[in-house]
Amino acid sequence: EQLNAQEAILKGMQDSTEPTIFDKIVSKEIPATVLYEDNLAMAFKDVNPVAKTHFLVIPKIKAGLSQLSKANEDHKMLLGHCMYVAQMVAKQEKLEKGFRVVINDGVDGCQSVYHLHLHVIGGQQLSWPPG
Ligand code: IMP
Repeated sequence: EQLNAQEAILKGMQDSTEPTIFDKIVSKEIPATVLYEDNLAMAFKDVNPVAKTHFLVIPKIKAGLSQLSKANEDHKMLLGHCMYVAQMVAKQEKLEKGFRVVINDGVDGCQSVYHLHLHVIGGQQLSWPPG
């Protein structure tokens, strides 16, 4: 019920940002290995994995969220939902020893696809800090 209410709010939000490759994954125009999907979010394998396990969690309705720094109050529930989905799919993928969640934002953050996404990386010992 809460998800449906959020879906209605997001659908009403004008999105002037360019469609990205992730919009085409949502619409199934281009194939992806989908690990999880509901009315708000989708998790799929990254095509260029940086670790043994690497998947992305995206909001299906972008609603102006080309990047995290565009977030406003109306996005709070969606952001929380994506984070929740990240740990749920991590469990599904048996990352019981731990994992990392990363959001790259903007040029300094090395963001390349301007459709908000959470990277979930694991399945091996990771190092810290990143560059
Ligand atoms: P960013 O650099 O944080 O924006 O991450 C974009 C991620 O999307 C990269 O890790 C890419 O490998 C991944 N990616 C780009 N195109 C596709 C695709 O078509 N399917 C799955 N992952 C993709």
